[in-house]
Amino acid sequence: MSAMWRLARPIQLLADLILPDGCGACDRFLATGDGPWCPDCALQLGRATAAPYCPRCGLTGTEPASLADGCHRCREQPILFDGMARVGEYDGRLAEIIRAYKFARRQRLDRPLGVLLAAAITRQPWASELDALVPVPTSWRSWRRYSFSPPASLAHQVSRELGLPALPLLRERGKAHRQVGLTLPERVKNVRGRYHLRPGAKPAGSILCIVDDVSTSGSTLQEVARTLKTAGATRVYAAVLGRTNGNLDSPDF
Ligand SMILES: [Zn+2]
Ligand SMILES: [Zn+2]
Repeated sequence: MSAMWRLARPIQLLADLILPDGCGACDRFLATGDGPWCPDCALQLGRATAAPYCPRCGLTGTEPASLADGCHRCREQPILFDGMARVGEYDGRLAEIIRAYKFARRQRLDRPLGVLLAAAITRQPWASELDALVPVPTSWRSWRRYSFSPPASLAHQVSRELGLPALPLLRERGKAHRQVGLTLPERVKNVRGRYHLRPGAKPAGSILCIVDDVSTSGSTLQEVARTLKTAGATRVYAAVLGRTNGNLDSPDF
C-alpha cells in the first residue's frame, strides 16, 4: 500500500462521515442503492410526472387533450410554441426541489433534474424531430440572484442525455423587469421584444426546443418562440421542469 493511498483512504472515510449523501429533495439519509431521491420523494415525483397534462400548453388536468386541439384552457388562445413537455406541475415536492435547486443553489441536482426533463421530452411525439435545445437567456438580475443560470445548466444536462446540442442562440435585451405580481396581459407586454439573436446565431430551418426551469404564465416561452420563429425556425417546442397551474401569484417567479 503506497503512502498516498494510506493517507487518501482515511480522508475519504472522514469526508463520507461528515458529508453523507442525502436525498436531493428532503436531505433524508439515503440507504445504499437509493438515490438521488429517498423512496418517499421518488414516489411523489413519480406521481407528479405521471399526472396527465395538456401537450399544447403544459397545464395539468384530467381531460384528454391533444397537441392539435389543446385543452379547454388553451383551446382559444394563440400559442406560439408548438407543444410543451414538463416534468410535473409546479407544486408539492417538485416545487420544493426546484426551489432548492435555484435558491439554495444545490447544483448537484442538475444531473437528476436533467434526466427527468430529458425523459419528459422523450415521451413527446416531437422528440425525434429536434435539432437543438435553446436555454432561455438569464438576465443580470437572475445571475445576481442565483449565481448560475438554471436554464443553461438544465439544457446542458438534457443535451448530454439526448445527444442534442444546447445552443445559447439568444440574448436578453436591456434591463429586464420581474414578472411577479403582473397579470397575464402585463406579462406578455413586459417580455415583448426582450430577446434578440446572438451574433452568428442561425436558427432558420431548425426544429428547436426551448429549455426553462419554471413556466408560470407561458409568456416568456411565447416570446422566445416568437423571436426564434421570426428568425426562421421551422418549429419551436418548450420543455420545463415545473408548470404552474395558472397561478400567476407564485411568489418566486
Ligand atoms: Zn426525500
Ligand atoms: Zn392546454
